[in-house]
Amino acid sequence: MNFNDVNFDTYFKNYPNEKGYFGPYGGSYIPDELQAAMNEITESYFTICKSRKFINELRRIRKEFQGRPTPISHLERLSTKLGNVQLYAKREDLNHTGAHKLNHCMGEALLAKYMGKSKIIAETGAGQHGVALATAAAYFGLKCDIYMGAVDIKKQAPNVARMKILGANVISVTDGLQTLKEAVDAAFAAYAREYKDAIYCIGSCVGPHPFPMMVRDFQSIVGIEAREQFVEMTGELPDAVVACVGGGSNSMGMFSGFLNYPVDIYGVEPLGRGPKLGDHAASLTYGTEGIMHGFNSIMLKDENGEPAPVYSIASGLDYPSSGPEHAFLRDLGRVKYDVVDDEETIDAFYTLSRLEGIIPAIESSHAVAYAIKLAKKMGKGSILINLSGRGDKDMDYIIEKYGIRDVE
Ligand SMILES: *Cc1c(COP(=O)(O)O)cnc(C)c1O
Repeated sequence: MNFNDVNFDTYFKNYPNEKGYFGPYGGSYIPDELQAAMNEITESYFTICKSRKFINELRRIRKEFQGRPTPISHLERLSTKLGNVQLYAKREDLNHTGAHKLNHCMGEALLAKYMGKSKIIAETGAGQHGVALATAAAYFGLKCDIYMGAVDIKKQAPNVARMKILGANVISVTDGLQTLKEAVDAAFAAYAREYKDAIYCIGSCVGPHPFPMMVRDFQSIVGIEAREQFVEMTGELPDAVVACVGGGSNSMGMFSGFLNYPVDIYGVEPLGRGPKLGDHAASLTYGTEGIMHGFNSIMLKDENGEPAPVYSIASGLDYPSSGPEHAFLRDLGRVKYDVVDDEETIDAFYTLSRLEGIIPAIESSHAVAYAIKLAKKMGKGSILINLSGRGDKDMDYIIEKYGIRDVE
């Protein structure tokens, strides 16, 4: 299939299909007992989340609790420095808790409440998803079990503290390497035991159907707002839209507002230390088709066909695959995927901080770095960056490892 085989006017009606496929990617590859629970979530999603009542309640929460709509900022000093291209940022760093993740966590937790569940379950790696979900659980008065590798618990003390203050139960996973992969397995096992009272809340556009679709739909508020705001500010559409891609939720949210418009779309993956396997997490750029964590997508594999060890300076991008919809959009050629490395990312982190007074998350700095390169290439026009989160969480590490960097 290519670009011309897909009608983007009816895209959201046709993708995913009823089995959760975006072309060949997606689906649900999980044990039978979990499949029954997933089917319950899928059915509830279509009945509950499409209801007026749910939509209105979520809209009110987004406004009164999350602080939406988040603004778009014109990055004037950065644009002037680069030449004639105008750069803009959609400020998800100003969303409550400092990143886009709360957009889908509030949706998932509200769904749990409407389904009559008393608990939400998830895993977390660096703790960002855990904190967003613990926030949503506190807001709705739900119990919250967060599975986290023992090694990650030691590394991510501030996020562990946040989750505990918010009332979540942080469960230490001591199997295997004691990191994200083991935490995923433990959380799935807990869900299989507890699905009558709990739902599992995935933290990105990954996992078995319906999560890639559901998380995209909850994140689509970013793209819808951004398109309207951008047109209101400038009188036209941006020429290009840029977002970083880990599992792919902030990017799918942004991209879904522009797929059916004449806008170039770029997904930015982390090249880390370089293109050798193990030194990066650029799954769509270097990976091949495979199944992991319950879904079929493009992934980085080791010599045994298992998910490969990956690296990125950004813990939120440190995942050996990306959501199935990204794999599909890549094959179609509708979104172009490209990479930036750690060095370019650190430069962009300091550039945005110094020139604009915005300290970006190290994940979002990947998108900024790419937009800077793209602006030089384009020479004229406009670029809208999805600034997925704020960088407070990254400051100590960056200063320790890279020192304070000057910006010319
Ligand atoms: C988690 C995270 C990401 C990566 O996740 P996606 O699902 O790819 O969006 C990006 N930016 C920030 C700030 C994050 O916390």
